[in-house]
Amino acid sequence: MHMGVAENLMGLKKDIPGTVKLVAVSKTKSEAEIMEAYNAGHRLFGENKVQEMIAKQPNLPADIQWHFIGHLQTNKVKFIAPFVAMIESVDRLKVLKEINKQAKANNRTIPCLLQFHIAEEDTKFGLSLAEAEELLASEEYRQMHNISISGVMGMATYTDDMGQVTREFRNLASIFSTLKTNYFSKVSAFSEISMGMSGDYAVAIKEGSTMIRVGSLIFGER
Ligand SMILES: *Cc1c(COP(=O)(O)O)cnc(C)c1O
Repeated sequence: MHMGVAENLMGLKKDIPGTVKLVAVSKTKSEAEIMEAYNAGHRLFGENKVQEMIAKQPNLPADIQWHFIGHLQTNKVKFIAPFVAMIESVDRLKVLKEINKQAKANNRTIPCLLQFHIAEEDTKFGLSLAEAEELLASEEYRQMHNISISGVMGMATYTDDMGQVTREFRNLASIFSTLKTNYFSKVSAFSEISMGMSGDYAVAIKEGSTMIRVGSLIFGER
């Protein structure tokens, strides 16, 4: 088992502003490793696979907030809808409709982030600004009462070129501002910019991130 999770977590928390939320990305990591972070006081965790999240969740403390951060298939939304604290990876209207439907079935509202494709790599999922505006302007979106769009999420290109990473994060921050002005000016819940991982969280925070998603720096390499 990897040792030092609590130390890694404390070091990272010292390094980031208190206003920036930290999602500890626990994908591929054991329940024992998650409990090391939990026992160090951490409550916010992220997983990118539905099967893995629903296998771990019942075995771990109920006050853990689980963020779903991976590509989400419509037919799997029902498995996480009862407990998920936020779905950060909404990349199409169809999946948002299903989240709304399953949230309603569970008598709750599910906070969601719109995921944007900001990287130059074409391997990452996400909306363009035009696609997001089409979604937000649609009658179908207007009819959804069990989801709350809380902001945006994106992943930068996996590169050492921090100039490029800066440009990509700046683009996401600008998308956030545009959407805030045009669609959410009166919606205080629309407040999160989820960007930054182990290799680029410092740049992300400099560019306005309110939520970083960090795995390997806390739990060790996968
Ligand atoms: C795995 C993952 C992370 C964390 O990556 P690290 O490099 O281990 O910090 C963040 N966001 C998403 C969407 C991920 O899939």
